[in-house]
Amino acid sequence: MNSAADVVVIGGGPGGSVCAAQLARHGRSTIVLERAAFPRFHLGESLLPQSLVVFEEIGVLDALKARFLEKYGARFHDDRRGKRERFSFDAAWKPAASHAFQVPRDAFDALLLDHARACGADVRERWTVERVVTDERGRAVGVDAISADGAPVRIDARFVVDASGRDALTAHATGATTKIGGLDQTALYAHYEGVPREEGKLAGDIDIVLFGSGPPPEPGGAGPGAPAASGARGGEAPARASAGARPNWFWFIPFKDGRTSVGAVVSRAWMRDRRARLGVVGDVATSLFDVAVSESPTAARLLEGATRLWPRAEATADFSYRVRATSGAGWLAVGDAGGFIDPLFSTGAHLAITGGKLAADAVARALDAPEEERSVVGAWDARVRAGAETFILAVQAFYAGPLVDYLFAEEKHTALRRSITSLLAGDVYSDAVWLRDTRLRLQEMLASVGAAAG
Ligand SMILES: Cc1cc2nc3c(=O)[nH]c(=O)nc-3n(C[C@H](O)[C@H](O)[C@H](O)COP(=O)(O)OP(=O)(O)OC[C@H]3O[C@@H](n4cnc5c(N)ncnc54)[C@H](O)[C@@H]3O)c2cc1C
Repeated sequence: MNSAADVVVIGGGPGGSVCAAQLARHGRSTIVLERAAFPRFHLGESLLPQSLVVFEEIGVLDALKARFLEKYGARFHDDRRGKRERFSFDAAWKPAASHAFQVPRDAFDALLLDHARACGADVRERWTVERVVTDERGRAVGVDAISADGAPVRIDARFVVDASGRDALTAHATGATTKIGGLDQTALYAHYEGVPREEGKLAGDIDIVLFGSGPPPEPGGAGPGAPAASGARGGEAPARASAGARPNWFWFIPFKDGRTSVGAVVSRAWMRDRRARLGVVGDVATSLFDVAVSESPTAARLLEGATRLWPRAEATADFSYRVRATSGAGWLAVGDAGGFIDPLFSTGAHLAITGGKLAADAVARALDAPEEERSVVGAWDARVRAGAETFILAVQAFYAGPLVDYLFAEEKHTALRRSITSLLAGDVYSDAVWLRDTRLRLQEMLASVGAAAG
């Protein structure tokens, strides 16, 4: 077994396996070290259309088409206003693809990792990287790992890619993570069967269901956060549009085999309030998931006849962070290892997939021309960071209120609607005029409510 390669990739999630597949396609010897044995569960089940450009380039698109449900749009529901709005990806400025995929991540990640193998990468599961090794000048020159049979092994490499996800191996080693202001959310989630779906192409849409974050509704009464008629169309009796009050929300992600992933994303304040108010003890995640369902008429309707397939709901908290340094001499960090944004717009896997592919191109170039490493990797870093920052702006404008108001406005400026659709499709890596305008609009939205981008 080799203990040296051109590139060592830490982690075999979407960021690591796409990067490794592309490096192998560039003819680079690549070792992927993945701590888990695949398949394994993972969050991040709704993809974006722009990732299909990468899937096609690395030669895995047909395999994905055969396995996974196609997602043609995103539906937003607001229980506080009694409104629903659908964004169809084919209405984007430059639709690279009309659809994305909804993917149970155990199957999806295993398929991508196998694809990296098929492209020529040396993939080793149940290997854990302990640290990146640097030389006397501080350049990354390999990793120290524990092999599948428990032996310590050093692997030398000309370049190291950190794709370790939210473990963020390199960032945590240097204390380079910072929280993103105002995104202290908790997600409570489980898989279901029997959740009703729309017909035809609409069956694969993601549903994002906003519900109130204020005090719970009085039984039988219209307290703050009380629902309007669920699923009502624009113009029908909205109770109170609570613009300004930060919404909690559900995701409903349908899979091809009939299962649906359901998650509630709630604020820390909501968690604290409901725990205290209801005296929740024991299985907190499941109890509070059920409380969230009871506070969202749309979620309650969708789950009415459905069966939870897991014994209990799971929870994960406080997931949003930036990383100050995402590259250096001989290394870079892709996907969640380089930062993570609230999952509102299903952006994480796309950032990992596209960032991973672009990283492979940059690293292959740097290996060919070492004198260009700094500029090539620096350009990669700037491009990937700009894409992520656009999504951060959108998420902040959403939680601050103005973007939600815009999504549900009766009259929408056609160009801005296209721009929002393009963002929802993941089109954040170009220097198109519409994208620059959209960043400005999002900044103006934040300024209009006195919220600074940050
Ligand atoms: C609540 C929630 C909901 C989400 N929903 C969505 C969604 O709908 N759509 C979407 O696109 N994204 C979503 N995401 C984000 C998504 O999960 C991630 O952005 C995505 O998985 C990032 O891919 P990655 O390859 O960077 O990291 P990962 O997928 O996390 O892969 C990292 C891999 O590295 C391995 N690893 C870690 N440390 C080591 C080590 N030391 N040695 C060896 N291997 C190691 C891990 O085992 C793992 O397999 C969501 C996230 C959260 C928290």
